[in-house]
Amino acid sequence: MTKEEYMGVQVSPLSYEEITQQLKQRVAQGEQSTIIAVNPEKIMKSQTDETLRDLINGSTFQIPDGVGVLLASRLKGGDINSRVTGVDMMDRLLQLSADEGYRVFFYGAKEEVVTKAIENIQQKYPAIQVAGYENGYAQDQEALIQKIQDSNADVMFVALGSPKQELWIRENKERLPVKVFQGVGGSFDVFAG
Ligand code: UDP
Repeated sequence: MTKEEYMGVQVSPLSYEEITQQLKQRVAQGEQSTIIAVNPEKIMKSQTDETLRDLINGSTFQIPDGVGVLLASRLKGGDINSRVTGVDMMDRLLQLSADEGYRVFFYGAKEEVVTKAIENIQQKYPAIQVAGYENGYAQDQEALIQKIQDSNADVMFVALGSPKQELWIRENKERLPVKVFQGVGGSFDVFAG
């Protein structure tokens, strides 16, 4: 997969459809994928924050969430011609999960926010299989890991804010059965309405 690079930071020039197609293939092959949203603010921060740059460049899909990235690509004659936002990517991934029967785990946000978000998502996608959830203020990390392992989740959304959520994914992904991780920031709040 060819990436575009802006000040040392990689961005995937792929549409929602292309990403969901690739995710479907990768899940079928048992490969893990991570999705991170990239905007100009994160690109600037990555100039001095090596950890953030590594988190972005180490992800499978760096989605161009922000018009600034689009403009940069246009000026450079790149292929990024539409935004891929974190919340819309999450919505596409929910649709894919409902269609394919992927089990989805939700981790993050306040208890009432994550439960309301799940309720609304179940209304929108009645076929969705909720593997489980945990609010973003869980104290016992080992219990959480056990819960995710037992849930047999295929897809996991982590809403702890950035870069906390990406650090969490990087630290824990190897011991989890999950195939697709997306750090989604405030998206549970959006789904909760
Ligand atoms: N959050 C959490 N645990 C924490 C810190 C934050 O669950 O320890 C949640 C918070 O409740 C909110 C989301 O993470 O739902 C942060 O969203 P924000 O819009 O700040 O993230 P961004 O999109 O800016 O990365």
